[in-house]
Amino acid sequence: MTAHVSLESSKRPPAAPRRFELLIDGKWQQAMAGERLTRHSPAHGVAVSDYACGSSADAAAAVAAARRAFDDGPWPRMTASARARALLKVADIVERRLEELAVLEVLESGKPIAQARAEISGAADIWRYAATLARTLHGESYANLGDDMLGVVLREPIGVVAIITPWNFPFLILSQKLPFALAAGCTSVVKPSELTSGTSLVLGDILLQADIPPGVVNIVVGTGAEVGERLIRHPDVDMVSFTGSTAIGKHVMAAGSDTLKKVTAELGGKNPQIVFGDADLDAAADAAVFGIYFNAGECCNSSSRLLVAADIASAFVERVIAASKKVVVGDPLDDATKVGAIITPEHLAKITDYVEQATAAGAELRLGGRPLDTTTGQFMAPTVIDGVRPDMTIAREEVFGPVLSIMTFDNADEAIRVANDTNYGLSAGVWSGNFDNCMHLARGIKAGTVWLNTFMDGYAELPFGGYKQSGLGRELGKHAVEDFTETKTLQMHRGPRTNWWLR
Ligand code: NAD
Repeated sequence: MTAHVSLESSKRPPAAPRRFELLIDGKWQQAMAGERLTRHSPAHGVAVSDYACGSSADAAAAVAAARRAFDDGPWPRMTASARARALLKVADIVERRLEELAVLEVLESGKPIAQARAEISGAADIWRYAATLARTLHGESYANLGDDMLGVVLREPIGVVAIITPWNFPFLILSQKLPFALAAGCTSVVKPSELTSGTSLVLGDILLQADIPPGVVNIVVGTGAEVGERLIRHPDVDMVSFTGSTAIGKHVMAAGSDTLKKVTAELGGKNPQIVFGDADLDAAADAAVFGIYFNAGECCNSSSRLLVAADIASAFVERVIAASKKVVVGDPLDDATKVGAIITPEHLAKITDYVEQATAAGAELRLGGRPLDTTTGQFMAPTVIDGVRPDMTIAREEVFGPVLSIMTFDNADEAIRVANDTNYGLSAGVWSGNFDNCMHLARGIKAGTVWLNTFMDGYAELPFGGYKQSGLGRELGKHAVEDFTETKTLQMHRGPRTNWWLR
């Protein structure tokens, strides 16, 4: 088993942290209270970013700028063609600055560089996809209401959108929201996670390079308690697009209800992969390992529950353990690394607590279970826990670390029952060579995405989001722009109207 992590990459973190300010009304500004926030690399321990840290007053200034840009500015009134051109320009610049973005993402989040490059490149593709949707967004017409009436349903941008994002996929998740809001003609205030704000701020620079008008996108770094709270309660914010934990998602919805904001939420998951004996077991084992260790398990889609048919369980678990031992954990700046660092020491402690709770409840630790021995940063060993029962905490709560829980089932209906025995419903994977079985599972599982004989692929064309407490609404896909619109009904009458009192 990997017991020590090498931090001997040829690439080194920067000697001094990169400095960032807040983007408000098209200008880089210091926080009004002069506060700053330093982010240390979770892998290398050194300071890598130094952000201006906004307050409630900075958040309010950003909302005012977004409001002006929406009410008086050119952006919502531009042709879709002009907005699409701007989004395409952003995509081009993101690709040109890919390495800068990827390295910054690695330094702040601890994710491996190869993965970060793929995420930035995928994000550029999403900006291009949103540009196509800007031009196809349209309403409806009703010519079937009688000769003297024409009904038209307009789609108008909803207004000012607060976008609040988590630390685990900072650039990708922002790119699942912002280009669609912009395509619809909205303006925005973005609050990235205070742990990984850097690439969102570089995106701000890219938006200026792409000539997005001042105030259309404002970016305010700060804590959830200060900046986030101001945004979710501000009367001039029309919609909140939130990604993060289920607990904070519920709070955002409750706070938004005061001003009846539209809230969309992408929240946590406790996703199962279900493996039947007739599956391609090599592929299934690879997917089990990928599903739990990708992004060090700090992933809403993490397949933290592995449900294996009882008759193949012991042999299949051996395969998964053997594959887990080969996973390269190490310096995220190294091209060969598959699993990088854990976001904070506090989060690492939370992960190891879950492991201890599981073993205390009677589950069997088969691999890992503890932090790795490193000179800098915090890393968790790939961990496999067998003999997990559906009622154990480890099977019910989001661990958000590289910790796989294994359960068994006797038949397809039991697999569906166990898969659905959770408050979450984000995604699931099914491995079987039998088409009927795959369809039965796919229809029975309550989740926003079900992968059949594959896992965690993603496409801009396909909607993504959760059932149950995994969220509200869908991102990506052709309807994603519509989420950022209101409809307005026009009823247009022709000729003399029969008045009510003269009839
Ligand atoms: P989090 O809920 O702690 O924070 C998310 C964001 O909300 C951060 O920007 C944070 O500062 C802000 N926030 C915190 N308190 C707030 C408040 N009172 N008001 C307004 N904003 C506030 O989540 P996290 O730890 O950053 O991210 C991990 C979580 O995100 C996990 O639960 C994960 O499953 C979820 N997630 C879901 C998806 C998805 O698409 N479903 C994707 C990625 C992450």
